[in-house]
Amino acid sequence: MNLQDYQKKRKFEVSPEPKGKVLERGGNRFVVHEHQARRLHYDFRLEMEGVLKSWAVPKTPPLSEGIKRLAIEVEDHPADYLTFTGTIPEGQYGAGKVKIWDIGTYENLKKSPESYEFVLAGKKLKGPYVLLKTKGYGRAKKPTWLFFKKKS
Ligand code: MN
Repeated sequence: MNLQDYQKKRKFEVSPEPKGKVLERGGNRFVVHEHQARRLHYDFRLEMEGVLKSWAVPKTPPLSEGIKRLAIEVEDHPADYLTFTGTIPEGQYGAGKVKIWDIGTYENLKKSPESYEFVLAGKKLKGPYVLLKTKGYGRAKKPTWLFFKKKS
């Protein structure tokens, strides 16, 4: 786990985003940022191994079963990013407004390199969810995943 990609993409003297560092221990928090960039999307972030593993979800995250969302893996973000809200200035990476759409904790159920299963305890997202790696790749050659709610 490292934040090199994250830090390389940003100019911290211009962007209000945290520079951050990898924490010594993992936590169990999650956040969904509503990010009004060039295109509105949702960034789903799970605290894991001292960072926030992050996925860009082009549509609203699934609130019920039967909805599968594409989730494009993006660079790990620092744990400090969990509570970040603000406006990334024009011309900067990810320029636009960032708001918290949901925040809470999660409990790991199952984890393999190809799939994560966890129970979310947020205000909007509650219950068992799955992230499943596909064979496709998105931006920066990072894998795409499917994100959906499981029957509880
Ligand atoms: Mn984003």
